[in-house]
Parts: sequence; structure tokens; C-alpha cells
Amino acid sequence: MGKESSIIPTQYEALGISPEVLKYAQAIEQNLSERFSAIDETAEYNQLKVLGAMRRKKVSAACFESSSGYGYDDIGRETLEKVYAAVFQTEDALVRPQITCGTQALALALMSNLRPGDELLSPVGKPYDTLEEVIGIRPSRGSLAEYQITYRQVDLLPDGTFDYDAIKNAIHSKTRMVTIQRSKGYQTRPSFSVAQIAELIAFLRKCKDDLIILVDNCYGEFVETEEPSQYGADLIAGSLIKNPGGGLCRCGGYLAGRAEYIAQAAARLTSPGLGKEVGASLGIMREFYQGLFLAPVVTAGALKGAIFAANLYEKLGFPVIPNGSETRHDIIQAVTLGSKERLLAFCEGIQAAAPVDSFVTPEPWDMPGYDSPVIMAAGAFVQGSSIELSADGPLREPYAVYFQGGLTWYHAKFGILMSLQKLYEKNLVPKGLI
Ligand SMILES: *Cc1c(COP(=O)(O)O)cnc(C)c1O
Repeated sequence: MGKESSIIPTQYEALGISPEVLKYAQAIEQNLSERFSAIDETAEYNQLKVLGAMRRKKVSAACFESSSGYGYDDIGRETLEKVYAAVFQTEDALVRPQITCGTQALALALMSNLRPGDELLSPVGKPYDTLEEVIGIRPSRGSLAEYQITYRQVDLLPDGTFDYDAIKNAIHSKTRMVTIQRSKGYQTRPSFSVAQIAELIAFLRKCKDDLIILVDNCYGEFVETEEPSQYGADLIAGSLIKNPGGGLCRCGGYLAGRAEYIAQAAARLTSPGLGKEVGASLGIMREFYQGLFLAPVVTAGALKGAIFAANLYEKLGFPVIPNGSETRHDIIQAVTLGSKERLLAFCEGIQAAAPVDSFVTPEPWDMPGYDSPVIMAAGAFVQGSSIELSADGPLREPYAVYFQGGLTWYHAKFGILMSLQKLYEKNLVPKGLI
């Protein structure tokens, strides 16, 4: 301890953190040891779960070989899908570099399992922004709406819980599929625990037992010891440049669930008649395995960062969602900074702390689909990877920043310290607190 306390502050100081900021932050960190050990316990459980799946499915060096062309008999691809199915306790899985991102994984699940005349229900309010165009809430080329697939939505109650009466009333003979988003994404509603999702699924089944229930699992993987697929979700979907890719996957998405629905998705992804049998892996398999292997620990680091940030900024008087003491169901942390200057300074700090592009200053820009400029900070090894330390926020009231990721807890911590440092240097923190 004596040795650490003399060496580590020097290192932070050398990287531009003032002793006052460090001292303030260290007091916060000291109070988090119980929560951090609970996170470590979850990580240990999930590490053994992933390791057990890899052992049972006999992952071997041959799994890392590359396939090309049609990709027939790709043992790496086939074994990986078995490993995912084992980890998520599902009948089957589809894990492919050809699934570009989370949005494509979700779109694939929906478009392959719905038919004209069917209706899709979201019982948890508005889905993630990019899904609005998939569904056709915002008119878009190729949307479900173009195929006469209708959509209905039941908003959450004001306290963020499920409106069971309205959900029951919204289900009718055409309701075929239900989509449940686990993480709040960039909304201010709470994220759902696996237990809450389990309760909702049980209720939906009672209303209509042949519904196909999809859970958007983005940002939720490995945050808890169980996954929604263990509680009746027929399909779960996510991105490999978030939690399950462990920071190593350069692209990709996954679906896991019932064999029938995975087969539908595979027929849509490749072609009817070809299904899961094709898809060259082009040498990418090693990182898919290795990323999944590291994912429980990487997710734990990101969670520690989120909790640290919540406590640090909450103590300074900024509203944070989730708050400093709440249980976590995803890795996203929102901090309401209340002014443009603070939002810019926060993102400047995150960027300055990055291993890549630390020397650039993030600038707000007019991103398609947003009604105000957005600032984004990320110095990632993989473009857009949000399991890596990143922050973004729209330049409008209440100037909230959404912060997530960090491949290691130490990097997340340094990024948060640097964000605070920038606010401190610009006199943007309430006087007398640091
Ligand atoms: C990130 C995310 C998506 C979409 O994933 P992309 O990889 O960005 O396409 C969908 N839903 C939620 C909740 C997400 O967090």
C-alpha cells in the first residue's frame, strides 16, 4: 500500500491529473470496494460459464483456421455458434462477421421471423433509434412497414415499470413477435434486470403462448450471471463491438435462441436453401473466440467505470442515471452536466485519455437522425466500438453525456479522472468541492 500510494500518484500526475482531483477521486473509489467485489464475483461466475462452454464444445486450434469462398464445413464458425448457444443456454446461435452490427442482428431477427400481416409489439416503449427505420416508425427503404408488417407500442408507466393492462389489451390475433430492449440505450428510462424481463415474458406467454419473444441484449451481456434467454426469450441479439466481443472483435453480431427461429434468420442472412451452411470466416475466428473469452472481465471493468463515474459526479451535485448506489443492468452511465461547456470539457477529457487519437479535440457535428449537433469522444482500436471507453451527447438541454466502456478498469478510471480534470481546469465544477 505504502509503495503504491507513492508511485501511482506520480504516474497520474505525469499524465496530467492534478493532485486535488486525484485525492477527491480516490476517496470516492475507497467507498466502492464492496460493489467492486460483487462485480468481480459476477465476472468470475461468467468467466467459468464461458470457459465451461468452450471446454464442452471442444474448441481446438483448428477452430482458428480461415475459410474462404462459400465457407463450407467451417469448423471454427460451427463450433463458435455452439459455444454461444451453450453460454446463453439456447438451442442454437448465429454468430457472424457478416452481421455488421447490433442493428443488423435485430433487423435480421425481425425480418426473418415476421410475415406480411403479422404485428410486432414493443411493450417497453420506444425502441432504440436505429430500429425506428427497421420497423418503419420513421419511413425507410426496406422497413417492416413496407412488407405490411404492423407495429404497436405500449409505453412504460411514469415510474418506468411495465403497463401490464395496456400490454394485455395490445395483444391480438395478429401479434406475432414482441421485442424487449434490455438496456435503456440513450433514453432516461431505467434498464431492465433479467428478473424483470423474466416476469414480463411470463406475462406475455399467459396472454398468448405462441408469441416469438426477442430481447435486444445490447450492452447487457455478462452484466448479470444470467441472460434473458434462460427465462423464456426465444431470441436474443447483440453486437460484437459491445460486451460479448470483449473488445477484440473488429465487427460482427450474434443471435441466440430457438433452433427454428435461428434457422429462419440464417435463411435470410445468406439465402433460402443455404442457411447456416455457408459464410466464409476469412480468418476472423480467433478474435471471436478470444473476445468472448475475455468478455466477462472486460464487461466488469466497464461496469466499475460506470459506477465510479456515477459516484464521482453525483457527489459533485450532477444528476446521474443510474445513481451511485443502484444495481446495474447494463454498462451505460448518463451524467447530466447542465451546460454546453461542461459537456464539451467532459468529452475532451475522455478523448485525451484514449490510447488512440488522444491528441485530437472532439468537435460537435450534425449527425444524421439527430435534431441537434452531437459530440462524441472515442479513441478506439475498433471504429465505433462502445465496449471501449467512449462518451457522447447531444448539444441541447439538459446537456447529458452518455458514457460507457473501457477495456480495462484502469483505463476507465483514467478517462473519468481526465474528464473531471478538464472540468476542474476550466472552473466548471462547483466551488469548494475539490
Ligand atoms: C447499440 C445498440 C443497438 C444497435 O447496435 P449497433 O451496433 O449500434 O447497430 C441496439 N439496441 C441497443 C439497446 C443498443 O445499445
